[in-house]
Amino acid sequence: MKFSQLERLNFDNQFTQNLPADVNPVNSRRQVRNACYSRVLPTKVTDPKLIAWSREVAELLDLDDDPFATTEAGEVFGGNRVLAGMDPFAMCYGGHQFGNWAGQLGDGRAINLGEVVNSRNRRWTLQLKGAGPTQYSRTADGLAVLRSSVREFLCSEAMSHLGVPTTRALSLVLSGEKVVRDMFYDGNPQRELGAIVCRVAPSFTRFGNFQIFAARGELDVLRQLVDHTIRNDFPHLGAPSAASYAAWFSEICRTTADMLVHWMRVGFVHGVMNTDNMSILGLTIDYGPYGWLENYDPNWTPNTTDASGRRYRFGQQPQIALWNLAQLGQALISLFDTLEPLQAGLDLYSTYFNTECRAMMLGKLGLNVIAGQTETDTALTNDILDVLSPVETDMTIFYRRLAVLPLDGTPDKLDDSVLDALSDAYYLPAQLTEDYRATAIGWLQRYRTRVRLEGISDLERRQRMDAVNPKYVLRNYMAQLAIDKADQGDYSLISELLELLRHPYDEQPNHEEFAGKRPDWARERAGCSMLSCSS
Ligand code: AMP
Ligand code: MG
Repeated sequence: MKFSQLERLNFDNQFTQNLPADVNPVNSRRQVRNACYSRVLPTKVTDPKLIAWSREVAELLDLDDDPFATTEAGEVFGGNRVLAGMDPFAMCYGGHQFGNWAGQLGDGRAINLGEVVNSRNRRWTLQLKGAGPTQYSRTADGLAVLRSSVREFLCSEAMSHLGVPTTRALSLVLSGEKVVRDMFYDGNPQRELGAIVCRVAPSFTRFGNFQIFAARGELDVLRQLVDHTIRNDFPHLGAPSAASYAAWFSEICRTTADMLVHWMRVGFVHGVMNTDNMSILGLTIDYGPYGWLENYDPNWTPNTTDASGRRYRFGQQPQIALWNLAQLGQALISLFDTLEPLQAGLDLYSTYFNTECRAMMLGKLGLNVIAGQTETDTALTNDILDVLSPVETDMTIFYRRLAVLPLDGTPDKLDDSVLDALSDAYYLPAQLTEDYRATAIGWLQRYRTRVRLEGISDLERRQRMDAVNPKYVLRNYMAQLAIDKADQGDYSLISELLELLRHPYDEQPNHEEFAGKRPDWARERAGCSMLSCSS
């Protein structure tokens, strides 16, 4: 049987058709001027093997044949076969890394294959990550290892099923080759399995794609890229004009705020919020040393490279997004006669984020925004930190347990036993001092008062809360278990986790083992508690 549907993918490559290309056809590492991209072919690999596949992403591309029935999916999404209609290229972009302008970066190991228009007229760009060196690879090899590819594949899909805007992942292919990585940057390089993920998104354009042209004074190319982006990705804003530029920047600010609200809701820490890792569509992009909050600690970052400054810690992500938007605004100044539209976008980010974040925090408690309650509600949602952070409390479990805490018909004064319902969320029960218990019970009393004001039953409260507080997230140790098995040639846990994470809000009694706290062995293990950028 042939996977003939692949041959029928309908490519329409607007990015390469409309925008200036690198005039030098040679794939050599260099500064590329006056161009949005360089054409480059994926490097052929010895033995591509498909090991995981997302059927939901396949459906977006009208692919429903069994990809494992033939070797073709591995050939195409491992980069060995370029299909008719594909026009592979690497994008030129720059970026601020950890707050400093880094100049040209670009797709150093990502190769866009082309844009597919599906039967519903939706446009999807296919991009291979880890498919070999490009003009933008600088001193690196253009490759990716299995562990980071498993993490990207699973997390993109998990985030999408959680309702978080994200790039998607279609496939995970082993290259059959070894890739050398010094995982801890300690002079101990190892040969690891190489892998390639096929990522899928309407577009992979980043803030840094615009920044590079502003930084170089290539303002004509900048405008071409902006106009192309508005026409292709923001067609509802109308033809490029002063008005649509302003509306466009505001929309980027708003969708970025939406993404941040979602990250804060589910406890996701991106880890490397450089401006080259910020999607113009407000999608979570570039899954590297990301992590999930387990014990609630707003200062936590999973990224070892950021351990001292903690620039990208959980609680600071909303401010960093604003800083990144300000850098994008700076890059777009030449499009505007005054700074007013850019300032308006940034102001919108702050007000919109605050409003949405407040509603989200209430929503996690099963509560709606009620007029006249703003001050008390803000105090209630702020003060939950006094319950979550002084003792090691698993954020995900806490909210699911709070959802089933009985409040209907409870005695006027809640007593100590009320905390029993939350006990699963605590890592170290010995930390629950008298003081802590009094604080927690005090907060629960206020919470009950507010629930009664809203007039909802325990049942309704639980339904509301379970719809926004996931039961299952991709805890770092879970990805690590899948990676350990995959390293031994057993890919079953990748598919199992993908299946589990398809329904993150549902009770899944067969999978209680993944609904519990992070096991003790994972507390300090690399890959589970901290990750390096080496990938
Ligand atoms: P990241 O921190 O993963 O977002 O990457 C920052 C920059 O480094 C981007 O331009 C990447 O394309 C590039 N890069 C990261 N890893 C590699 C690699 N193994 N080979 C080539 N370029 C890379
Ligand atoms: Mg990146």
